[in-house]
Amino acid sequence: MTLDETHDTARRSWVPGADDSDFTLQNLPLGIVGPRGAPPRPGIAIGNSVLDLVAAGLLPPMATLNEFLAQGRSARQDLRQAAWALLEASSPSRPDLLHALADCTVHLPCAIGDYTDFYAGIHHATNVGRLMRPDNPLAANYKHMPIAYHGRASSIRASGAPVRRPNGQRKPGKATEPSFGPSRNLDYELELGVWIGPGNTDGTPIGIENAADHIAGFCLLNDWSARDIQGWEAQPLGPFLAKSFITTISPWIITPEALAPYRCAAMIRAPGDPAPMPYLLAASDQAAGGLDLALGATLSTAQSREAGAAPHRLTQKGTSRDLYWTVAQMVAHHTSNGCDLRPGDLFGSGTISGTAVEARGSLLEMTEGGRQPIRLGSGEERRFLEDGDEVALTARFGRAGFGPCVGRVVG
Ligand code: MN
Repeated sequence: MTLDETHDTARRSWVPGADDSDFTLQNLPLGIVGPRGAPPRPGIAIGNSVLDLVAAGLLPPMATLNEFLAQGRSARQDLRQAAWALLEASSPSRPDLLHALADCTVHLPCAIGDYTDFYAGIHHATNVGRLMRPDNPLAANYKHMPIAYHGRASSIRASGAPVRRPNGQRKPGKATEPSFGPSRNLDYELELGVWIGPGNTDGTPIGIENAADHIAGFCLLNDWSARDIQGWEAQPLGPFLAKSFITTISPWIITPEALAPYRCAAMIRAPGDPAPMPYLLAASDQAAGGLDLALGATLSTAQSREAGAAPHRLTQKGTSRDLYWTVAQMVAHHTSNGCDLRPGDLFGSGTISGTAVEARGSLLEMTEGGRQPIRLGSGEERRFLEDGDEVALTARFGRAGFGPCVGRVVG
C-alpha cells in the first residue's frame, strides 16, 4: 500500500483540536452518527467533531456502512482523499459541515451479520493453556491454523453500553453440583476487531494473496467473558453463554489506509515452528501483513472514581505485533472451506497479551486464574470485575488512536 499526502504527519486540519485527539487529519475513521434529533448518517471523526458526509456531498444518506464497505478499497481511498482535502488546513473552514461529537449518538457502523472470534494472540493462548495443561499449553493445531469459534452478532454493542453481569450455570472446583446465578468471575479480553469488506458471497475461497482486499478496517473489541460459566459449559463445544451476553467495540472504523504506515512483518516464528501451509502463505502478507499498534486497558472502580483517582493501568505495553496469525490469514482460512463472508461481518483477533505480566490482556492471565489478586492504586484488590468497574481499551498509532471502547459493569 502506497503512502501519499494524507499520511503526512506535518499536515494539519482547520478543525480545532484535531491534532491533539485520537481523530487526527491522518486518521479519518468512518462511522454512523445520529446528531441530536436527526436520523443516523455517515460521518468521519475529526478532533471532537464529526464531518457530516451527506452534508459534504461525499456520500448519499445511509443508516449503515455495509454497502459502502462492499465497494472495497478504491471507494474508501476516494472518500479519504476527498475528506482530507476538505479538512486540511489550507482549505476554507466549513464548520457548517461539522457536528460536535458530544451532541452525537455514535451507532454501530454496520449491521453485523456474523461475528467470528479468533485466538491468534499466542501469548494469551499459552498463558490460558498453561492454567489447564502446564506441560503442554498450546494445542497441537495452534501453529498450523488460525483457531476460532463462531460468536454472537446480536449482542455486539458500541462503546458506552452498560455491561450487565450475566446469570448462568457454574460449578466451582469444590462444588459437587452446579448452580445458577450471577457470574462471580467476570473478565475482559483486549482484542482487535476486523471489519470485512467485499467478501465472497458465492462461497469461493478467498486466496491469501487477495485476502487484504477484503479487510475494510479495524476497531477495538472487548470480549467480556464469564470465566466461571465458561469453565463449566465449554466442554466439549467451546464458548457459548459465557461470551454471548455482550461484546463491546469501538464504533469508528479505522481504515487500512489510515494504518498503512503502521504495517509490519508477520510475527516471526520460533525455530522448529511449522511453516504456514501454502493456502496461508504469501510473501506480501509475510512482509507487511502485521500491525504495529500500541494497545492498553485501564480499570476504574466506583471507589476510585469517587476519590477522583486516575484509572488503574491494567494492560500496559500491549502490541498487535503479538498476533501469531495475520488478519489476511484469518480471512483465507475462514473462507477456505467455502464459507461466505459478507460486507460488515466482524472478526475478533483473540485476546492480545504480551510476554510480560503487565502486558497480559485479561484478568484470567493477570491473576493466574483468580489465585493471585491484583492490587489497584486505590488500595482495592481484584481477582475479577466487580459491579461499578469500568474497563477502557485503547489502541494508538503515531499521534492517533481508535477512540473509546468503554464498558461499565452493572449488577
Ligand atoms: Mn476472545
